[in-house]
Amino acid sequence: MKTIGLLGGMSWESTVTYYQLINEAVKEKLGGLHSAKIVLHSVDFDEIEKCQSSGDWARSGEILGQAAAGLERAGADFILICTNTMHKVAGDVQAHISVPLLHIGEVTARALLARGIHKAALLGTRYTMEQDFYKDKLASAGIEVLIPDAGDRAELNRIIFDELCVGKILPQSREKFKAVTEALAAQGAQAAILGCTEIGLLLRPEDTRVPLFDTTVLHAAAAVERALEGE
Ligand code: GLU
Repeated sequence: MKTIGLLGGMSWESTVTYYQLINEAVKEKLGGLHSAKIVLHSVDFDEIEKCQSSGDWARSGEILGQAAAGLERAGADFILICTNTMHKVAGDVQAHISVPLLHIGEVTARALLARGIHKAALLGTRYTMEQDFYKDKLASAGIEVLIPDAGDRAELNRIIFDELCVGKILPQSREKFKAVTEALAAQGAQAAILGCTEIGLLLRPEDTRVPLFDTTVLHAAAAVERALEGE
């Protein structure tokens, strides 16, 4: 079994989910007392968020790059950045390591195509919804992306940082995510990408008419598949 390197803490609420899903899948596949080989570097999210909101992506790329290099030295065979947003600096992180990065956007695009989805809603932080670094991965796989309007993007972003990243799960925020998803489905989205690793804590598959593609679940499953290749 290969060793999975996790760059987590962004936020730790979703890193918990990664740790649990990866171990559950290894247990399911190998049985008995088997569990995943994982090295985790969990950052102080306050430091990373300050880089995001001040636009200092270079500094966050350096912090995560150094952390990734540490994971490689600790034996990681490949690395996951456990947040969609920080894939903005995936290139900087990759430049610090010689092992591969398992890119969350590529994993998500493959999962959508496998289900015949070519037009999908993207829900995430304002950075993920508005900037190109993530949408480009989907577009280059032939997937058309629909994003919420400006007011809804601001509200979803607020819910992510003020609530989900600090462990607050509120029914009215679930209703907001449901309404935004329905609006994008009415515009032709065949599915919704939960393009932020905490949204799955709030929104469940039974909440919407269209299928949900939870990037945390997809990323964790892809990590296990890679770790167990050839087992
Ligand atoms: N975990 C979130 C994501 O997947 C948001 C936190 C962050 O800004 O990294 O984008």
